[in-house]
Amino acid sequence: MMLIQPERQLIEAVFGVPVTNRYGCEEVSLIACECDVHNGLHLNAEHAYVELLRDDGSPCAPAEDSSIVVTELVNRAMPMIRYDVGDRGAPSNRTCACGRVLPLMEGVTGRLADFLVAAGGSKVAGVSLIECTLTRFAGIRQLQLVQE
Ligand SMILES: [Zn+2]
Repeated sequence: MMLIQPERQLIEAVFGVPVTNRYGCEEVSLIACECDVHNGLHLNAEHAYVELLRDDGSPCAPAEDSSIVVTELVNRAMPMIRYDVGDRGAPSNRTCACGRVLPLMEGVTGRLADFLVAAGGSKVAGVSLIECTLTRFAGIRQLQLVQE
């Protein structure tokens, strides 16, 4: 799970060091990681081929919300091929100021199962809902969203 900005700020304030987001999963390990510029996640392209796809399987545009699909390049025992991780993210066409040439993704927007569905059928990422709305109310220490 990616850190939301208030969590990052709290950890950095308490420990006095910058915090770096890393993204991965049990099945594939590290998929992407921030560099010291903290402006998107560099894909771990040396170890995995990452596709960011629309629901119909076509490649999505930069900054478009998409499914994260990963093919391992180094697991010779049981490689995951075009594995849909179940997470959502957005690709980037930017280059990073750090000088690394590994491709960037804008970020991980949430888990497929974590989306709330509005009455009109549109989807809202639970993490986005928390980050953009509920954390702005003072005094909330924990919360849980339930959609039946
Ligand atoms: Zn960078």
